[in-house]
Amino acid sequence: MDYAVQIKDLRKVYRVGEEKVVALDNVSLAINPGEICCILGTSGSGKSTLLNLLAGLEKPTRGEIYLLGKPIHKMDERQLAHFRQRYLGFIFQAYHLLPALTALENVTLPLAFRGVDSRTRQREARRILTAVGLSRHLRHRPTQMSGGQQQRVGIARAFVGKPPLIFADEPTGNLDSATTREIMDLITSLAVQHRQTLLIVTHDHDVASYASKIIHILDGRIQSIESN
Ligand code: ADP
Ligand code: MG
Repeated sequence: MDYAVQIKDLRKVYRVGEEKVVALDNVSLAINPGEICCILGTSGSGKSTLLNLLAGLEKPTRGEIYLLGKPIHKMDERQLAHFRQRYLGFIFQAYHLLPALTALENVTLPLAFRGVDSRTRQREARRILTAVGLSRHLRHRPTQMSGGQQQRVGIARAFVGKPPLIFADEPTGNLDSATTREIMDLITSLAVQHRQTLLIVTHDHDVASYASKIIHILDGRIQSIESN
């Protein structure tokens, strides 16, 4: 069976004027389907760069990336957009909700891009918003919700289409410790229910404790891989 995520000898160099910044170097790893995996490292260690490369938002300088067995590093923009729509949910630190849209509208959006009909979109969005505890906030806009509630909408948007892969970049980075635990309980229980593969990057050891595999990264290199 294919790995959910497989990376071979990945390298990313940014050029800033005359300077070269090696953001990732010699990164190889594999994640099994259904695994909850965390990449743990301090600020500037290359975590966001790695997730952006995995999602096809940036191109590697060298190396290979396979998601669900498909070569992301070889895809053009159209293929990447299609892959993300079908197979990938993304959760952001700063939520990235559309401010003019209600919670319900934000969550129906990924299904609209996929061409799902309106009735099904409404039904699925209500279902997942209820699952994340927001059945009474369907018509709220982002500014009318707390940070924790906004992240619940972000989670609902990532999970609504039941993508096999969920990536999260510091999903609790803007939240207090009690809300962090609620949000991590929610993300991990949703992923386990539907056997989705969850990859979280964070600097927070408490967040990493939810993972069955912790990959330690420092200065763009993997230091060690720890299995719980
Ligand atoms: P983290 O998410 O772990 O905090 P990043 O992946 O954002 O780390 O950054 C890793 C390194 O790459 C840092 O040294 C950062 O300054 C550099 N970097 C990230 N993005 C860019 C960019 N677009 N241009 C130049 N350097 C970048
Ligand atoms: Mg980052």
